[in-house]
Amino acid sequence: GDNNGPPARWCRSTRGNTDVRHDGLMRLIHGRMIGLDAGERDRFFAYAYLTTRNSRRLLSYGLPLLFLAGWMRDYVIMSGPDANLMLARRGLLVAALFLFAWLSHLRSIGAWRELAGVAYVCAYSTGIVMTTLAEPARLSLAHVAAMLMTIILLPHAFRPATTVGVILALALPLFLMMLLLASPPMLWLAYLLYSLVGVSIGLAQRRAYLDSALDLFQLRKRLLARLHVDSLTGALNREGWQVHAQRHVTRSLHDGSSLSLVYFDLDHFKTINDQQGHAVGDRILQAAAATMLAQCRPGELLARLGGEEFVTLLPGTDEAGAYYYAERIRQAIAALDGPIALTLSAGVGQHSHQATLDLTIVRADTAMLEAKRRGRNLVLRASHLGPVYATGTGRMPSPRPS
Ligand code: GH3
Ligand code: MG
Ligand code: MG
Repeated sequence: GDNNGPPARWCRSTRGNTDVRHDGLMRLIHGRMIGLDAGERDRFFAYAYLTTRNSRRLLSYGLPLLFLAGWMRDYVIMSGPDANLMLARRGLLVAALFLFAWLSHLRSIGAWRELAGVAYVCAYSTGIVMTTLAEPARLSLAHVAAMLMTIILLPHAFRPATTVGVILALALPLFLMMLLLASPPMLWLAYLLYSLVGVSIGLAQRRAYLDSALDLFQLRKRLLARLHVDSLTGALNREGWQVHAQRHVTRSLHDGSSLSLVYFDLDHFKTINDQQGHAVGDRILQAAAATMLAQCRPGELLARLGGEEFVTLLPGTDEAGAYYYAERIRQAIAALDGPIALTLSAGVGQHSHQATLDLTIVRADTAMLEAKRRGRNLVLRASHLGPVYATGTGRMPSPRPS
C-alpha cells in the first residue's frame, strides 16, 4: 500500500498547486471527494476498493442466488418443456452475472473493472425484467425489486462515471420492459417516481460512505506521515527513513541510476549543549536541519537517525556530486549566524547495487568518523579511504550514546 505522499518538510514537494473548481451540484452528489486532485482521487479510490473488497465480493456473488431461489419456485409451479427452456435461459443469465462479478474484481484488467461492474448491474436488471415478462402481473413487484437493488448497488459505485453507468444500466431494461408491455402513462409516471426514490436514497448512502471513507483515508495518511517524521526538526525519523529510503533503493536498482548518501554529525555538540543548555541545542538542531533541507532538491531525503546525526539520500547522484552537495552544506553550516560557532563533519558514499543500504550507511559513517579524526569541519569520500571494513552485522548503526 502506497497511499502516503510527501508529508512534511523532509522532502521538497514535487507537486504544484492544482486548480480545483468546486461545483455545488457535484459536491452535493459526490461529497468531499470533489475537492481532491486527480492523483489523490485515484489513490482514494484504490484505498476504498481495497478496504471494501471482501464485502463487495460477498454482495456480487450473493445477489444472483436470489434469482436462483426465485426460479426454483417458478420451476415447481410451471412444468413441461417451457419450464426447461426458461430455466436454461435464466441459467445463462446467472452465469453471466457470476462472470461479470468475477471480472469486476479482477485487478489485472484495471479500469475495465468499472465496465464489468456496470455490465453486472445491467444483467441484474435484465434478470428482473425476464422474471417479470414471464408473469406480467408481477410488474409492480419488479419495480420494488429494482428500487431496492438501486439502493443496495449505488453505494458501491465510487467513480462518478461509474455511478452514471450504474443508474442507466438499472433503469434502461426496466423502461424497455414498460415499452414492451405498452404500459399506460400513469404507470410510467409511477415507476419514474419509484426510480427517483431509489436513486436518491442510493446516492445519499453512497455519499455518506464516500465521505466517511475519505475521512479515514486522510486521517490515516496524516497519522502515517507524523509517525515517519521527527517532530523537532521535520526531517524523517528512523521509521520514515526505512520506508522511504528503501523505495529509492528499489527504484535505483530497477533503472540502474546512481544513488548516494551523506552522513552528517555536528561537531562537539555535547559541549554546545553543556555550555548553552539543551534548549539552545535543540534550536541549533532545527537550524542545521533547515540548512540541509534548503540544499535538497525534490525527491531527495533528509533523515535524523540519531541525536545530532543526519543522513541525506541523493537519487541520481554519484559520489562526486554528493561530495559537492555535502561540501555546500558544510560551508552553509559554518557560515550560520548564532550564539556559537557550529561546524559539522560528513562522510559521503555511493550506494552499490550489490550492497545493502545499511552497508552504504556504514561506509559513509566510517568516512565521517575519519573526518572527525582528521580535525572535524570536513567532508570525506568513502571511496578515497581505501578498503572498507564492514562491521558485518548488516544492520543500520544505532545512534552512539552520549
Ligand atoms: P563529535 O564532534 O565527536 O561528534 O562530538 P559530539 O559532542 O557532537 O559527539 P557525541 O555524539 O558524543 O554527542 C552528541 C550529543 O548530542 C550528545 C547529546 O548531548 C546531544 N544530543 C542528542 N540528541 C539531542 C537532542 O535531541 N537535543 C539536544 N539539544 N541535544 C541532543
Ligand atoms: Mg554523534
Ligand atoms: Mg557529534
